[in-house]
Amino acid sequence: MIFQYCPRCKSEKVFYDGLKEYSCDDCGWLFFQNVATAVGVIMEYKDKLLFVVRNKDPQKGKLDLPGGFLDPGESIEIAIDKLEYFGSYPSIYEYEGIPYNTCDVILVTRISNLPTDFSEEVKEIKVLKPEEINLNKIAFESVGSAVSAYLRNKL
Ligand SMILES: [Zn+2]
Repeated sequence: MIFQYCPRCKSEKVFYDGLKEYSCDDCGWLFFQNVATAVGVIMEYKDKLLFVVRNKDPQKGKLDLPGGFLDPGESIEIAIDKLEYFGSYPSIYEYEGIPYNTCDVILVTRISNLPTDFSEEVKEIKVLKPEEINLNKIAFESVGSAVSAYLRNKL
């Protein structure tokens, strides 16, 4: 339950359907907390996989795939050549106490040079052999599921 009061009329009669819809009994306000799209890219580099170490919460210090949420107006085809669709994984991303339902779209690419330019949300990158990847150190269950499925398919 994100809203305790109606943002329109400040009534306390806000109803949450438990899934995605908020409504106000007093003024008829409706709000849909729709699924947010996030993209994660499995980058294969010389039989290793590239991970970023998160520099911010949630899950600061844990491994993640390069990527992020789509902003309004953006499409999934971000600026990387030869992207392959791998799969999509529903997840819940909790930020500042608010759970966001996401659908993590996982793409795959093979790179011959390591990227050097990352946002401030990235502490460092790690390039790991499959046997060096500890799924418990991956920030999100959805990303861990995608990485383990990828490794299973590949081996
Ligand atoms: Zn209202």
